[in-house]
Order: sequence, then C-alpha cells, then structure tokens
Amino acid sequence: MADEALPLEAEIRRRISIAGAMPIAQYMSICLAHPEHGYYMTRDPFGAAGDFITAPEISQMFGELIGLWAAAVWRQMGSPENIRLIELGPGRGTMMHDAMRAAKVMPDFRAAIVLHLVEISPALQRLQQQTLHDVGLPVHWHENLQQVPEGPAIMLANEFFDALPVHQAVKEADGWHERVVMIDKHGNFALGILPAPMPHLERVLPPQVREAPQGSIFEWRSDSTVLEIARRVRRSGGAALVIDYGHLRSEVGDTVQAVGEHAYVNPLIAPGLVDLTAHVDFQSLGQAAESMGARVHGPIYQGEFLRRLGIERRAAALRANAPREKAGEIEGALQRLTGSGARKMGVLFKALAIADPKLSVLPGFGG
Ligand code: SAH
Repeated sequence: MADEALPLEAEIRRRISIAGAMPIAQYMSICLAHPEHGYYMTRDPFGAAGDFITAPEISQMFGELIGLWAAAVWRQMGSPENIRLIELGPGRGTMMHDAMRAAKVMPDFRAAIVLHLVEISPALQRLQQQTLHDVGLPVHWHENLQQVPEGPAIMLANEFFDALPVHQAVKEADGWHERVVMIDKHGNFALGILPAPMPHLERVLPPQVREAPQGSIFEWRSDSTVLEIARRVRRSGGAALVIDYGHLRSEVGDTVQAVGEHAYVNPLIAPGLVDLTAHVDFQSLGQAAESMGARVHGPIYQGEFLRRLGIERRAAALRANAPREKAGEIEGALQRLTGSGARKMGVLFKALAIADPKLSVLPGFGG
C-alpha cells in the first residue's frame, strides 16, 4: 500500500505500526504540516480554483475593514510609535494587502507599522511575498508566534485556529476516551478509541459537555497559541482579533471535516491531499485568554461585527463607482460575508478579540 501518490499514508502507517493507534490531533498535524507532504506545505489551496474560499478572497471589503479596525485599535493604544502588526496564517496575503491599502487614510498608523507574518508553509510564504511586494512596509516572516519580537502588537487571525489540530474524545459508560486513527483488519485506516478513559479530561469539562449522552464527541485544541497571544497583549499592550467558524459555547459534536476541490470527503482518505479543519470553540479560547489576565471581547457573529464596522456603507460606495455588471458581485459578496444560511458566513463565523485590559471598548465589539 506504499503508494507514491500518497506518501503520507505510508508515513502514518509506519508510525502506527511502531507506536500504536494515533490520536486524531496527531493525524491532523501530520496531514497539514508534515514538512514535505503536508497539505499547506505544497500548494495554494485558496480561491475559486483551490479547495475553499475565505473571506478576504471573497471581497476586498473584508481586509479593508480589518485594516481600519487595526488603525482604530492603535489610536486607542495611544498611537505608539512602533507597532508590530502580526498576522497568523496569512494564506495568500490578500487580507493584509487590502488592510494596508485601507490604512493609507491614516498615514501616521502606517508609518508606525512593522509587519510580522506567522506562516509555516514555505510555499505560502513565497506567495505572501509576491502579494505584499508593493505594500511599502517592512515585512518579516516567522514559523511561530514565539519568534516575533516582543513589544506592542496588534494580531490578526482569520481562519487560522480552525487549521490547528484538534483532539477528540468519545463518551462511553466509564468516561471519555481519546479518539484515534488505527488500522482495521482489512488494512485500512479506521477510527477507534483508546481503551483507558481520561479522568483528567472529565474534570475540566464544562457542565453542558460533561453531562452529554454516551456516544457524544468532544473536541479540544492545545491552548499554547492563545496563551501566547494573551501573554503578549497583557505584557506589552495591544489586541488580537480572531475570526473563524465555530461555536459560541463549548459543546459536543464531531466537526472535523476534510475538503478537497470544494467537496466534503472522508478525512481518512488521501492524507495530505485534502484540507482538514475543525470548528473553533470560542468559549474555551476566551477562557484561556482570560486565565492569562487578558480582556475578552465577544464572541459575536461575523455578520454583526462587519456591519458595525460599516460594511454596508463600504459596499454602497464600491457599488456607486462600479460598472453595472459589478454591482451584483459586490452585493453577492456582502450577502456571503454577513448573511445567514447555507454557504453564508455571517452567523457560522464569529469574531472575538483578546486585548490588554486597559482597552475597555474595541471597534465592532462595544455597545
Ligand atoms: N488567513 C487566510 C488563510 C487561512 S488558511 C485567509 O483567510 O485566507 C490557514 C493558514 O494558516 C494558511 O496560511 C496555513 O498555511 C497557515 N497555518 C496553518 N497551520 C499553521 C501553523 N501551525 N503555524 C503557522 N501557520 C499555519
């Protein structure tokens, strides 16, 4: 079965035969971030021709409003002379490009910025370099947030957390058991659970999850990135904006999904060739940030957040200057970003900010 077209399948098989069944989180991590064959390492998965479309790829309005959000936060911070504008998982670099164009209305903000992009994929780093070559600001790349120099910072993360591996546990009669990938009697990858329950997990579960019926699945991620974000805003001042799809409160449910060429597929087939993501648990994200002494704003629906930042006015201005055939496109993008229902992002996606406690009201969240 060591298929050359599926090099990760052979690698995962090898690891399972040595170390035993593999937690879902480790499976996801290998599929996405294996240095040679990981999904993000080799390709550009974004846009109409790729596997999925993200908000900044839908419309320039998204990045522009985020740029103005960052400018307003910088003012609230007291307009520090040096600000690190950090983006986690910038994809093609489109959001930052649009944000920095919009920020031209505040030249003093632009003059204070050094851009830091946190990106594990060398292929996407190159793409970001191309997108941002004319941005007129210093740009630095890092593989993780820890590498970014300390100091006042504004951090942005759109569809970043959903790409971080999740663990899953299944509730059985004797407690919660970690869900794993194993090899079944036909030699195929299959999902199973570890025999021993995890009493330490049970103790930290929120009540609505702990009391879920047998067979329920709970998902959680490592807290390390959100703790680092919170530490930074607490220590040096600033704020982080997290936008992603997920749930407002911790709840049970299997949300791991695999997407290839705009269609859902079985996550165990074609490891490394399809995108794997899972919903973000905004309650647990917020609690982790608060545990470090940061102030949490939201979460609120993306649609609500973008309307408060003025997306309807921005769409009207773009329509007024656009040829007739473009007007429908702008309206469609507005609906897609803010509306509810199938294929719309306004309610499925949430916005949450993690801020220095001195920043009591943030644009889009206050009131
Ligand atoms: N923000 C972009 C892309 C979202 S996809 C957009 O909205 O279009 C997720 C991004 O995070 C990709 O750029 C991916 O390569 C990057 N990424 C995934 N896991 C990462 C990790 N552990 N560290 C840094 N970047 C990561």
